Amino acid sequence: MNIAVIGTGYVGLVVGACFAESGNEVVCVDNNSDKIAKLEMGHIPIYEPGLPELIERNVRDHRLTFTTDLKSAVQKSKIIFIAVGTPTTSSGAADLSAVYAVATAIGKAMNEYKVVITKSTVPVGTADTVRDLIDKETNLEFDVVSNPEFLKQGAAVDDFMRPDRIVVGTDNPRAAEILRELYAPFVRTGSPILVVDIRTSEMVKYAANAFLAARISFMNEISNLCEAVGADVDMVRKGMAADSRIGSAFLFPGVGYGGSCFPKDTRALIQTGREFTTPMRILEAVEAVNNDQAHRFVNRVIDHFKGKLKDKRFGVWGLSFKPRTNDMRDAPAIRIIEQLLRKGAAISAYDPEAMEEGKRIFGSRIEFAPNNYDCLTGADALLLVTEWQEFRNPNFERIKAAMRNPVIFDGRNIFEAGHIRDLGFTYFSIGRK
Ligand code: NAD
Repeated sequence: MNIAVIGTGYVGLVVGACFAESGNEVVCVDNNSDKIAKLEMGHIPIYEPGLPELIERNVRDHRLTFTTDLKSAVQKSKIIFIAVGTPTTSSGAADLSAVYAVATAIGKAMNEYKVVITKSTVPVGTADTVRDLIDKETNLEFDVVSNPEFLKQGAAVDDFMRPDRIVVGTDNPRAAEILRELYAPFVRTGSPILVVDIRTSEMVKYAANAFLAARISFMNEISNLCEAVGADVDMVRKGMAADSRIGSAFLFPGVGYGGSCFPKDTRALIQTGREFTTPMRILEAVEAVNNDQAHRFVNRVIDHFKGKLKDKRFGVWGLSFKPRTNDMRDAPAIRIIEQLLRKGAAISAYDPEAMEEGKRIFGSRIEFAPNNYDCLTGADALLLVTEWQEFRNPNFERIKAAMRNPVIFDGRNIFEAGHIRDLGFTYFSIGRK
């Protein structure tokens, strides 16, 4: 099949490469000409395990191309995915301007029947507006389908290749059949393709993300209570996870969720609730708890140093919002570092993949170390913010030798408290004794 994917970001690039890998001819479109030029030269703009090999192979075999020319991409493709960004507006709602601009451009470019698919995460009712916008521009036949994406950054290729489920929102059997055919190679192990109406499909994505965010905030709140009452959240978590009705995923307390999805999607769903006079009270609390969590972490640092951070220097391990990605959108590290800078602290940071992004965000306001040990030279404390695998088993003697004070604030509970204290560190973690 000939496919156009419009928006070549974290989602569009993975979706395009994976569809090419299953034999389709895919053209990825973006209005960022710099990004397209780099991709054409073989430079992959994001860090995503497994993605470079996939792109290289499919470009070489002429199944995957890149362009800024939306019109020609639309004209040679029967299937068109819209995968542009839907960031948060000041009200908390999703900004749909890019989705709508693309819909109008597709309408203008139409030359024959197309299936236009909203892959971006969009509020209920968006596909109807996309249909109206295309309809204004053309008399040709087309279908609009909602097909939300559930991939996780850091495991995006695997998730796309082996999805838990595919959700297709359409009221048209012809469009449903095209999507079934397109996804057949990805569901050979029996994952379901759920064909539902468009509004239900749009809602599934928000409900899933909001629920995952709620689990995180719930555990963060439980961890705060554990600290207050003298319980150990690690064992509480294990005790909960053993219950098959609960399961073990998304039960880890920390410095709060971040990234380009959970914060934005919970806010957008809260906003949809307001619009439809159906307040999302649980989600409002989920967001409030999350906003507090990074503050609590910083306050612990402030309390330990008795409010005097002006002459203090902190080594921060991890900038990306989670391991295995270079994405820092809405990352807790930003909130934490900004608060410490406001208090006058000096920061040195290290991240295995997000250094370039960190430099773009902080410029010369913080230092960037070439590795996690140099990051701690003369530091008054190590602040562990992102749980990269390589941080889990470091050389603690080397850490201690580099630091001015052997103090660790572990924002992800990756170290074993007893062991660290035996080594002579002052150690703080989340919700543990
Ligand atoms: P992104 O910002 O990485 O990529 C969006 C791309 O769209 C950018 O390259 C941008 O230049 C391009 N773009 C914007 N306007 C355009 C236009 N008018 N024409 C052509 N290109 C245009 O965003 P992302 O993380 O890939 O997310 C895209 C959508 O997918 C969002 O709605 C997001 O919520 C959703 N989503 C993201 C993830 C994730 O893990 N990142 C997972 C599932 C769903």
